[in-house]
Amino acid sequence: MANPTLLILAGDGIGPEVMGQVTRIIDWFGAKRDLGFDVEHDLVGGAAYDAHGTPLHDDTMAKALDADAVLLGAVGGPKYDDLDFSVKPERGLLRLRKEMDLFSNLRPAQCFDALADFSSLKPDLVAGLDIMIVRELTSGVYFGEPRGIFEEGNERVGINTQRYTESEIDRVARSAFELARRRGNKVCSMEKANVMESGILWREVVERVHKADYADVELSHMYADNGAMQLVRAPKQFDVILTDNLFGDILSDCAAMLTGSLGMLPSASLGAPNADGRPKALYEPVHGSAPDITGKGLANPIACILSFAMALRYSFDQGDEATRLEQAVEKVLADGARTADLMGPEGGTPISTTDMGDAILAALDARL
Ligand code: NAD
Repeated sequence: MANPTLLILAGDGIGPEVMGQVTRIIDWFGAKRDLGFDVEHDLVGGAAYDAHGTPLHDDTMAKALDADAVLLGAVGGPKYDDLDFSVKPERGLLRLRKEMDLFSNLRPAQCFDALADFSSLKPDLVAGLDIMIVRELTSGVYFGEPRGIFEEGNERVGINTQRYTESEIDRVARSAFELARRRGNKVCSMEKANVMESGILWREVVERVHKADYADVELSHMYADNGAMQLVRAPKQFDVILTDNLFGDILSDCAAMLTGSLGMLPSASLGAPNADGRPKALYEPVHGSAPDITGKGLANPIACILSFAMALRYSFDQGDEATRLEQAVEKVLADGARTADLMGPEGGTPISTTDMGDAILAALDARL
């Protein structure tokens, strides 16, 4: 059988630095676990603009649509701040998400025990935390029409429209239920059905999908404002949280901070399954291009490495290998390895991006 294909778009700033460590790990899986990938590299963001005058070349877009999964580093940087909006680095990322129709955004909030002190919550509330937020990414109030700022009498009015079709809710709900089956088998759906019609429809459709095809998964509903409160009160009550674009934007940032550093947070954006059953998929760290530390060897590669672990699990059905990689990261942290962003008030000597890659590879080797 042919190897699965990976398109790597390292992007700008620390993107290529953290992706460099991921590439070593991909090679390790090929050499030591007989899990080879055909990897192709291309440009996105400012790097693509410098080379082609566009943040995403049409050929790159075609390759992304063709690949079994896309891994992205980060885009943007001060050099591109004054570019026209239409060619800003972020437009490259938005085009990928739009044309791949990545409607389901997965943001795990996982707290490694060794980093429990980094959370703004008490360590016992977050130690061992492992929740997944599934956010609808391509519809809702960020896209609904009418939108704009209009004249109304003698003043202006700003309008955005929260709009969801049944099929949009149906497909993201399925994605959450499928995910729950591979985890703790629980979904909590969050909306504001008490005050929003779109929330009433959301709840109805989620229940319908559940009853028809996922009755084995435990389903509960929560108003999103209560959800925010529960996330900081007792986050471990959740397994998968399913929510819309707007609430998901806020709740996933809130959940992210439960776990400490931005340098630790992976994400996945999934679309509809292809003929082979694999979803269209883009994996990327949550952080940006970090211009303040670019080129200094200070970047933490773990968010990007954990994004590859998500690819192993959700695109390639290699859950055991994903766990192997996550456990190697956990071991390295438990042994005290820390990049600069993970230095606590007690201080210590930070290790470099490459040192962190070395340590994770050594931990992988040690468990063979
Ligand atoms: P950022 O995430 O790049 O950085 C925020 C802070 O976190 C910085 O102090 C940075 O040094 C630190 N940080 C981020 N990732 C880190 C890592 N892996 N290891 C250690 N420290 C890390 O956000 P920003 O500064 O607001 O944005 C910088 C640029 O990135 C902007 O051009 C922005 O548009 C872009 N951006 C891109 C994405 C993306 O590509 N998905 C996301 C957010 C921001």
